[in-house]
Amino acid sequence: MLTLPELKSLLATPQKIVITTHHKPDGDAMGSSLGLYAYLIQKGHHVKVITPTDYPYFLHWLPNNSDVIIYTDNKEQSDELVKDAALIFCLDFNTLSRINELGEVIRAADGYKLMIDHHLEPEDFDDYRHWSINACAAAQLVYDFIVNELEDAAAMNKDIATCLYTGIMTDSGSFRFPSANSAVYRIGADLIDLGAEHWKIHQLVYDNATENRLRFLGHCLTNKLEILREYNTAIITVTADELKHFQIVTGDTEGIVNYALSVNGIKLAAFIIERSDKVKLSLRSTGDFPANEICKKYFGGGGHRNAAGGASEKSLLDTTNEFKSILAEYKTQLLQ
Ligand code: 5GP
Ligand code: MN
Repeated sequence: MLTLPELKSLLATPQKIVITTHHKPDGDAMGSSLGLYAYLIQKGHHVKVITPTDYPYFLHWLPNNSDVIIYTDNKEQSDELVKDAALIFCLDFNTLSRINELGEVIRAADGYKLMIDHHLEPEDFDDYRHWSINACAAAQLVYDFIVNELEDAAAMNKDIATCLYTGIMTDSGSFRFPSANSAVYRIGADLIDLGAEHWKIHQLVYDNATENRLRFLGHCLTNKLEILREYNTAIITVTADELKHFQIVTGDTEGIVNYALSVNGIKLAAFIIERSDKVKLSLRSTGDFPANEICKKYFGGGGHRNAAGGASEKSLLDTTNEFKSILAEYKTQLLQ
């Protein structure tokens, strides 16, 4: 274990630090990681952000993005960095299986492991934890870590604010989910005061689509959306051939599931996609419906109550049929 006074004393001198985040990082994963990175480099530490995989192009404008190392492209260098690090920050995930091969490299490392996360059921691999499921984003917890835990509000700058704003904006559905309470709005206001250009960040993340992505979205909505009124559920399935046809790249499929959830009366939406190695499910729900329970129980995954994911080794058709067959078990909740 590492206590806060011990951590503060370690951070008082330059340290070798690695920051990592989950597989296929999203806006919160990258925003929280690069926000913490901008803070730590300002304090004189030697810091590297290592992502387990690549991430969407609409996050590549983030400050210091060019310093990010992608594990799958730089395994040897990453393994060395993790081995030599005094501190390893794990952001926006809480089980080492979420970072693939990199997870076991971190488990075996000697450095202190620090978890900053807002997902349910953390695994016990860390030495220091700043964790709350009430936070709307890991970026909110990074803000809290710097400002309240390290009591270092004076070190906040425009780069940190820009990254943390991005994380909070993306994970709170642009400040609209129930998790975006008044405290989150106050943090947002503080980040704007610190230089985050909220209008520009929104534009760079959400109005930055390729033509292919928009046409693919049109295809999904016109041809692939299936509404199961008897279960208040909507499903969109996508084959590997369709991904190829529309030249879909990392990030292009993000958010499409939300369109399925936006149909009136729909309580549960699924986006089921045939990836090269497995079939991946993204679930979204409204109200109390536990999307994460379905992912955990049937698809080896997890997440939040209203946003969760999992995977299957079965074919796209079999996975979709399995998902449909599970709905009967939840019929009462879905029709409430
Ligand atoms: P998405 O549908 O955007 O991939 O993920 C939605 C939420 O579910 C995220 O908060 C993410 O952390 C979680 N999630 C997605 N896939 C998995 C998975 O395979 N395992 C676990 N434990 N959580 C996942
Ligand atoms: Mn998050």
